Amino acid sequence: MSKKVLVLGEAREGALRNVSFEAIAAAKQVADGGEIVSLLFGDAVQSMGEELIKYGADRVVTVEHPHLKHYTSDGFGQAFMEVYEQEKPEAIVFGHTAMGKDLSPKIASKLDTGLISDVTAIEGDGDDAVFIRPIYSGKAFEKVKNKEGLLFFTIRPNNIESLTKDEGRTGDISSVSVDIANLRSVISEVVRKSTEGVDLSEAKVVVAGGRGVKSADGFKPLEELAQLLGGAVGASRGACDADYCDYSLQIGQTGKVVTPDLYIAAGISGAIQHMAGMSNSKIIVAINKDPEANIFKVADYGIVGDLFEVIPMMIEEIKKI
Ligand code: FAD
Repeated sequence: MSKKVLVLGEAREGALRNVSFEAIAAAKQVADGGEIVSLLFGDAVQSMGEELIKYGADRVVTVEHPHLKHYTSDGFGQAFMEVYEQEKPEAIVFGHTAMGKDLSPKIASKLDTGLISDVTAIEGDGDDAVFIRPIYSGKAFEKVKNKEGLLFFTIRPNNIESLTKDEGRTGDISSVSVDIANLRSVISEVVRKSTEGVDLSEAKVVVAGGRGVKSADGFKPLEELAQLLGGAVGASRGACDADYCDYSLQIGQTGKVVTPDLYIAAGISGAIQHMAGMSNSKIIVAINKDPEANIFKVADYGIVGDLFEVIPMMIEEIKKI
């Protein structure tokens, strides 16, 4: 049966996040030829609609309001429910991002429906689609099928490939006004600790440091390597707890989940809680002094050595290219 699918897009600082396009590709797979409607909430998002159409959305609905400049579950939740009531879709897709993780259970509960969260792949299409998602902190995968009713799922960023951009594609972009003047919470200002560099959750290359980095200064070679490779710096909780870096860099069960093309783990032992956030990376390179370190069990390439010798060598070689 063909389905109308509502896809929640995400924008940050005036640019769409890749997961918005990946979610459209996932929506196409389950829609069985049905309409793909992308949603975008914010204070000035109308101009980004065309990009969503070029990546496969049939129609874009935007909701613009000063209270939607920054995400709150209250504001986005109300905006989503209003659009949902107007559109009455058969399926909903969100990114499994900080926002999607927060908002999707709330919406599922309001709609009294199930939620297939953190999907990393979809086998088959239309009503036969089977959703694959990690369980037990990534130690196993389960296959889930939606038996009946509304289909609602979230996709892990960087796992489902977006469709090829079609510059010639056109579609309707409309704006809906919603009554969200009386929210319980509104974010008036966001003060960022750091705004530089590539977004860790969407980075194609991540260079992560652990307690083996030994100090905040010890992160400098990792930062240089990440910059050379066009990637982002991440960290283990060990490094964050030791105050070598900010908790916003933490990868793992209680941090960010990343699936870059290349993950370089330097001075990280490979605790199960860390691996929950990175073991699905496409290529894992581990640098550790201890040949018995657990991280080597998931590494595609292992370097037994001192990171303060190995990373400068890598930097030197890359600079020659
Ligand atoms: P360590 O385990 O101390 O490892 C340091 C490694 O560096 C060692 O293997 C050592 O051989 C190597 N090393 C030292 N010097 C060098 C050198 N010069 N060159 C090369 N290698 C060197 N952890 C996370 O990362 N993310 C999470 O989200 C997370 N969530 C958690 C949730 C819970 C409920 C709990 C209980 C724990 C959680 N942890 C998490 C913590 C986790 O269990 C580990 O304690 C932590 O990951 C260890 O960090 P580490 O590998 O940097 O440090």
